[in-house]
Order: sequence, then structure tokens, then C-alpha cells
Amino acid sequence: MEKTVFKDFASMVFSKDVMKEYLPKDVFKKFLEIKESSGTLDKTTADAIAHGMKEWAISKGCTHYTHWFQPLTGSTAEKHDAFIDSDDEGKAIIRFDGKTLIKGEPDASSFPSGGLRSTFEARGYTYWDYTSPAFIRNGVLCIPSVFVSYYGESLDKKGPLLKSMALVSEKASELLRKIGYEDVKKVTPMVGLEQEYFLIDRPLYKERMDLMLTGRTLFGHAAPKGQEFDDHYFGAIPTRVQAFMKEVNEELWKLGIFVKTEHNEVAPMQFELAPLFCDANIAVDQNQLIMDILKRVAHKHGYACLLHEKPFDSINGSGKHNNYSLVSDTGVNVFDAGKSEKDHLKFLLFTSCFVKAVDTYPELLRLSAANPGNDFRLGCNEAPPAIISIFLGDYVESIIDEVVNGKTKETTSTTIEGLSYIPKDATDRNRTSPVAFTGNKFEFRMLGSSVSPSFPNVVLNTIIADSIDEFLKTIEDKKPEEIKDIIIAFVKETFEKHSKVLFSKNGYSEEWVEEAARRGLPNIKSSIEAIAQFDLDKNVELLTKHKVFTKVEIDARKEVLAEQYVSSISLEVKSMLYMAESYIIPFMEKEIRGYKEISESVFAVKRKDLLVSYLDSLALKLDTLRATYASVSIIEDSVEKGLKYRSEIVPMLADIKDIINDYEKIANKEIYTLPTYPEMLY
Ligand code: ADP
Ligand code: MG
Repeated sequence: MEKTVFKDFASMVFSKDVMKEYLPKDVFKKFLEIKESSGTLDKTTADAIAHGMKEWAISKGCTHYTHWFQPLTGSTAEKHDAFIDSDDEGKAIIRFDGKTLIKGEPDASSFPSGGLRSTFEARGYTYWDYTSPAFIRNGVLCIPSVFVSYYGESLDKKGPLLKSMALVSEKASELLRKIGYEDVKKVTPMVGLEQEYFLIDRPLYKERMDLMLTGRTLFGHAAPKGQEFDDHYFGAIPTRVQAFMKEVNEELWKLGIFVKTEHNEVAPMQFELAPLFCDANIAVDQNQLIMDILKRVAHKHGYACLLHEKPFDSINGSGKHNNYSLVSDTGVNVFDAGKSEKDHLKFLLFTSCFVKAVDTYPELLRLSAANPGNDFRLGCNEAPPAIISIFLGDYVESIIDEVVNGKTKETTSTTIEGLSYIPKDATDRNRTSPVAFTGNKFEFRMLGSSVSPSFPNVVLNTIIADSIDEFLKTIEDKKPEEIKDIIIAFVKETFEKHSKVLFSKNGYSEEWVEEAARRGLPNIKSSIEAIAQFDLDKNVELLTKHKVFTKVEIDARKEVLAEQYVSSISLEVKSMLYMAESYIIPFMEKEIRGYKEISESVFAVKRKDLLVSYLDSLALKLDTLRATYASVSIIEDSVEKGLKYRSEIVPMLADIKDIINDYEKIANKEIYTLPTYPEMLY
């Protein structure tokens, strides 16, 4: 590596190797033991690690440190403190001890808490998450942390993720041990996240206030030739984009993120980046860094990086694919069909648990992919439908079918054996499915591009842990030799009971929507409707039983999500009014005035009349929007308000967009000076 472009790989990470170098041997050993057993750090060890971490950070030119955490805003937060302090005599010294490493007290009052902190206690604390490595960014040592209230309620995205990881580890390890994998001590959810994004020229971006404020263009007429943008896919990546990608890669490599960047096939100026999979919490941390670095590097290269799910109407939006598997400390992937009969049984058992979990908690999974931007994608024939279903692939389905249809034992076991030949590439033919089996992992494809992938993984971990737990109960007092038959019976039962969630045809089709309704599968069309179902009895029971959330935390999170929905629509309303009144209407008026002079031409009269009709119709619709918005905004309950926004305000915004688009189509481009889609995308 020394002489290659990768020589700086992980140079900004306090990795295991760096720890080994900077910590006394016994401290390093102790740390590994504590980490392995998920134990608590004692003061001596913490002080020693803090010392090593500080020495390393200062050697890299750091002056500050911060507890880096993920509040419910969905982005990350940090408060920088200098390593420098004064001693008793007022002399400058460098100070950073175990206590500072472990615990922080950020000024937390401005982070959303869904009322948690105002009802209890205003303070919030951050605690070091030693399972994710510390790293350096912009001369600041960043210490990944969880964020909790005075009474210990989670105020962030990381705390529940760590809890759900411990939960699924406990249940999956126990099950693996019971079915012949005696050495397993730990199981880790492994996650690989594919991230999509758009790049557009920064000067154009800055001329579109809607894009800057809301993340998307509130109107915009597609390019004259329509949606035939496919030709872009085949074109080479422009040199400027290449320079951008090179720097993104280098920045991410320094942070120890194994990333490959690739051109995306969907829309012009849309790209995708996928790091290698790793432990779920690290993958989530890395995704936050990736989103941040994409934006910063884009800025440097004269671009704006758009992470919104639907920045451009009528052009495919951006998502995030969450590739998920469970892997033991002994290297067993539960979703790998393997070669032996033992492996096949394990595969069918865990796959059954997964199918049962998804079919039992579709509302929660749907919620985990819900955010206002994603409402423009899910169910809109370019992204998975809003209906949760699983694509297993014909091969896996046919085998399960045989098990379910009660073949003789011999047939069953030969068929199960056949699983080892699943061609990994051939399992992923269906791109329209929200959840797909892809060789040795499940890919959850519903996530929005802009949001933290933490909650989807909390949900995946918890629902699978729950089905595993239920299965464990059925084999509690069974002898090892009885277990094989119980597994086969369970697989059979699961696929009889839960086959309604399996679907392998075109998920974009109207027939599927009808078929899914017949099957009784929920079709939750918008994020606010998904949020409203967060506290369904079964969800509360699941999440509290496994101690992933308390009821109070669920209520708080539901409130935060609903508030975020409401704020996001409010911002769109205000931005739309601003854009229409400050730009569009003046453009129209100016153009109409211009026709006065040539009014004897039949063409000019017609055109002027058309412009006047657009102007009147737009003005009328803006008035209605203003009035409706005012009347709905007085509703106090956030969920209720959000639902009203969704049913009344969102359609009005779409309606106004249509008129502006009609106008833009014929507008005099010397007058209509806002950047248009063709200008922004080519
Ligand atoms: P696609 O065909 O969807 O582009 P890839 O094979 O390129 O999929 O993988 C996408 C992501 O899945 C990558 O981040 C990759 O590291 C990750 N991945 C591969 N195997 C696993 C696994 N066993 N568990 C979790 N993620 C995985
Ligand atoms: Mg994918």
C-alpha cells in the first residue's frame, strides 16, 4: 500500500492498529476484552485510552475534539472543545482525560426531543460509543457518541441502533448455538449502503431559492425532448465530475471508508456511491460522513450535491439501498445457503424468520423509510411501491414451495442441498421490489437518499430478533435430534402463513396495487400516514418488550417525525409563495406588457390572452393556498396537522407547479431567467 494512492487509507481513523501503537499493551488488551464483552470502561483504562487518543490526534495537527452524535434532526452534531486548558497557575496545558472522552454535555436545548427534555430535564449528555472508531475531520478529533436525556431516554439515532444490535446478536447467537454452531458468541448485523445523489452547478443552484431552501425544485418543466435522458448513462463521466469523485474517494479513504464510486444509470447528473459493507452502526456513521463529504467536496468543485429524494419533478429521484445480513463472530452468514445440510437448514430457518418478521411488521418497516421527500418516489413507478413485499427469486421460492407442499423427507433434503447452487447474480432480477433477497443478504430498497439509515436498521434488527425469539421458545426443551424436524415444520408453517408478503412480478404495476389490497397488505402512501401508525399496539408491544424504545421514547419520536413533516411542508408552502410572487408573477406581467405594442397581430393577441389566463389562474391558486395554509396551520396536534397538509396542501402545491410549468413551456427565456431543467441537468 505504501507507494499506492491508497497509502493514506484510514490515516485519519483511531483504528485498532493505531490503538495498538498508541496504547500500552495491557490497556489495549483490556480495551479489546471490554469491547468483546460489551463491558464498561474503568477509569484507569479510559484515562489511558484518552491519553493515547489525544497524542495521536495532536500528532495529526488536531487542536480540538468533539463528541460527534446524531440527534433526531437526521444529520450530525458536534461542539468543538480545544485540547488546551489552563492549570492552577494559569499556564496553558494540554488536557484530555478519560472522563472527557467518555462523557460530554452539549448545549442540547436546540435539538428536537419530542418534548422529552422540556417535560423532564433540560440537560442532555453524550457518551462515547467505543464500538465505532474515533476519527479526525478538519483538524477536529471526532468521538462517535450516543445522546441521551438526564433520565437516560435516547435523544438520538445511535442509541436505539446499538440496543437493537445487541438484541439481535443475543437472539441470533442463541439460535445458531442451538442448531449446531456451538462456538458462536456474537452476531453482527452487516450493512452495505448504496447512496444516490445529484450534482448541479453551484451558480445555478444559488439562483433557485426553492432548491436551496427545500432541497427540491418546486416547479420546472422537463427538457423539450422529454424523458429520453438515457443517453447520458452511456456517456463518459465529465472530467469535472471525475475530479470531484477523485477527491471524494480520497477523503473517504482517509476515514477508512472502503468506497467505490460509480456512474449512475438513471438520470442525468445523478450518481451513486457504495462503500463495502461493515457493522451496522459503523455503516450508519460512515453514511453520515459520506453525505457530509459529498456536499463539502461538491461545494469545492463548484457543484451543489443534492441529496433530496426528488430534486426534479419527472426525473427519477434518489434513494439509498440498505444491504443487510447477519454474520457471526465465527464467520457464519445466516443468509448464506452454504454447502452442508446444516447450512441449508440454517438458511431456510433464518430466511423464514425474516419473511415472518417483514409480514408481521410492514407498517414499521414502511415508517422506517418514510420522510417527506420520499413521498415523491415510493409508489411512483421509479422506486419501490409503498407496499412492503419481498422478492425471494424463483429458485428460493420453488424450494420453499417443495418444503411447504410436503414432499417426502428424502426429496426435501436433496432439494435443500440444491440451495448451494443458487447463482448469486441470478437472484436479483427484480428491481421493483422494496425488499429483495440478493444472494446472501436482503436488500431493503425503500430508503430515502437524504436521511439517516439508522432507523431502518433498528427496525430490521428488532423484527428479526422477535421472530427468532418466538422460534427459540418452540425449541426450548427439545432434544438436538428433534430440532431438524421442527425447523422444517416451521419453514412450512411460515410460508403458508406469510406467503402473502412474497411477490416476484412487476411491483410498479397497477395490478400489484390491486392484488396487494386483495392480499390485505398495507399500502401506506405517505410518510405522515406512516408516522401516524408508529404507535400501533403491536409496534409498541414489540419495541418495548425488547427494550429498544420505551413508550415515552416512541411518543417523543412520533412527535418529532410529525413536526419534521409539518415543517417541511410549511417550508415548501413559503418557498412556493416566495418564488411565485417574486419571480413568476413579475415574469408573466413583464411578458404581457411586452405584447401591448404588437397587439394587432392575431398571434400576439392569442399569446397575450394565454399568458393573462395563466397569470389569473396562478394568482387565484396562490390565494387559495395562502388561505388554506392559514386555516390548517392553527391545528395543534402535529400528526393531525400533517395529515391535513398532506390531503389539502400537498395537492395545491402540485397544482400550482403544473400552471407554472405550463407557463415555463412557452415563456420568453429572456424574461424567464430562473435556471431551467435543461440548464441545470446538462
Ligand atoms: P448492487 O448490485 O445492488 O449494486 P452490490 O453487490 O454492488 O449490489 O452490493 C451493494 C452493497 O451490498 C455493497 O455495499 C456491498 O458491500 C454490500 N454487501 C455485499 N455483501 C453483503 C452482505 N453479506 N451483507 C451486507 N451487505 C453486503
Ligand atoms: Mg442495490
